[in-house]
Amino acid sequence: MPRALYLDHNATTPLRPEATDAVVAGMEVTGNPSSVHRFGRAARRVVEEARFAVAELAGVDPSSVVFTSGATEANWAALSGAAVTRRLVSAIEHPSVLAAEGCVPVPVTRAGVIDLEALEGLLAAEPGPALVSVMAANNETGVIQPVAEVAAIAHGHGAMLHCDAVQAAGRLPLAPITGQAALVSLSAHKLGGPRGVGALIVGADAGWQPLLRGGGQELRRRAGTEAVASIAGFGAAARAASNDLDQVSRVGTLRDGMEDAVLADCADAVVHGRGSARLANTACISMPGVAAETQVMAFDLAGIAVSAGAACSSGKVTSSHVLTAMGVPEDQASTAIRVSLGLQTRPEDIDRFVAEWRSIRARAGQPAFAAA
Ligand code: PMP
Repeated sequence: MPRALYLDHNATTPLRPEATDAVVAGMEVTGNPSSVHRFGRAARRVVEEARFAVAELAGVDPSSVVFTSGATEANWAALSGAAVTRRLVSAIEHPSVLAAEGCVPVPVTRAGVIDLEALEGLLAAEPGPALVSVMAANNETGVIQPVAEVAAIAHGHGAMLHCDAVQAAGRLPLAPITGQAALVSLSAHKLGGPRGVGALIVGADAGWQPLLRGGGQELRRRAGTEAVASIAGFGAAARAASNDLDQVSRVGTLRDGMEDAVLADCADAVVHGRGSARLANTACISMPGVAAETQVMAFDLAGIAVSAGAACSSGKVTSSHVLTAMGVPEDQASTAIRVSLGLQTRPEDIDRFVAEWRSIRARAGQPAFAAA
């Protein structure tokens, strides 16, 4: 068996050792954080220390951090709880944003960036309280969205801003985002924390109603006993991620070298969003003529984990809504894979990926490959 190589960090990241230790220690704390006795106070301390660490990573006051079961819940809470009559969301948002009732998609450009003129037009077309939801960076292409410009337009029309900063956390400074958006979603498992825990950052004057009610936890903003151990892991990961931000450019050098090698091998390969500002770790690459699922399986057989830009549901393969929104032709969208690097990725890993990419492409023309 070849050594496993994980290049799917936008799906989830390996748990940081600090986070593992914090989760284990958190599991051993008995109390309910709402109990007033010493056991409860010990659990409360764990939760509040983690809140402080997440707040520091986000550049916000700890009182604005509301722990959730992850970013899907945070997004859902943000979109459903905003006291607005209209929700304008970029067409490349995560499905947990796009699923919000009555949301109006805002188009993106061919470069994968929200169309600011279209946003302005949509806001101007109808009065009334509105929410604009734009992600900090896209999970498939890594394209960074112009949050400050979006905020200026939204605020100019009296609209509030929600930002899904899941993929930006640990990869970009968050203060410029949290300084602009009334609501910000985070997920622990994209920055080396455990799966199943996240946060919604709620600004002091956000007009917002909680999704989960029926308990006083999280200052009445999210009912339910806090997931103490997971929250502890989130805090430890956030602390470590704050210290690692300066390593991100090294990952960018590896990613750029990988893309250059692939494009040198095949002039018809396409790197989506390459002309835009992107997360340093993400590449979305079309290999002409080879379906994304075929590539993912072939890479997996070689021990390399990547993901398809296309989603498969009920046996029917549909192209990525992100690439479709960017106007990418179907033949390119259906052959796009996402390669997402992490802080542990080494130059020899990139060499191995590129060698396998070449090999898959070379074998693709042979009948035996299709049957594999
Ligand atoms: N938003 C984005 C941009 C994501 O990439 C993801 C994870 N795929 C989510 C939201 C959902 O996060 P979670 O897994 O914590 O529910």
